[in-house]
Amino acid sequence: MPRQSPVPETVDREFFAAANRGRLVVQYCGRCDRWQYPPTTRCPVCDGAESFLWREVEGRGTVYSFAVVHDTQIASLRADLPYTVVVVSLDECPGVLMLSHLPGAADVAIGQAVRPRFAVTEATGQRVPEWEPLS
Ligand SMILES: [Zn+2]
Repeated sequence: MPRQSPVPETVDREFFAAANRGRLVVQYCGRCDRWQYPPTTRCPVCDGAESFLWREVEGRGTVYSFAVVHDTQIASLRADLPYTVVVVSLDECPGVLMLSHLPGAADVAIGQAVRPRFAVTEATGQRVPEWEPLS
C-alpha cells in the first residue's frame, strides 16, 4: 500500500527519527507523570519543557476504534481500497491514542491486541508506524 510521506518538523523530528530506526517513542512529562501524543513542544498541562522528554516504548496496544475506508480523495491510496485505519490505545502509555493503518486485517475488532511495525513511505523513504495483530 502506498503511504503518504510525512515531512518531520521540529516538534515531531524525534518521533520520525525513531521510526526510521524501527522504534516507537512517545513524549512523557516527569513532573506530571503523564504521556503526551501527538507531539508538542512543551507539556500542555504544566507548560514544562525540562521534564518533558521522549521515551522509547515497546508499543503494544489494543484497538480502541477502527474504520474500513472504501473511498478516498487521495489518488495514491485508491489502488488499495478498502483499507483499515485503527485508533490504538498504547498499553504502556495511559491516555495515548495513535491513529494509523492496520494492513490486511479484514476482521479487525475493538479490543484486539496489536503491535507496531514500520512501513517505508515511497516519496521520501520516511518510515511510519502502523499496526499488526498479535496472534
Ligand atoms: Zn507536565
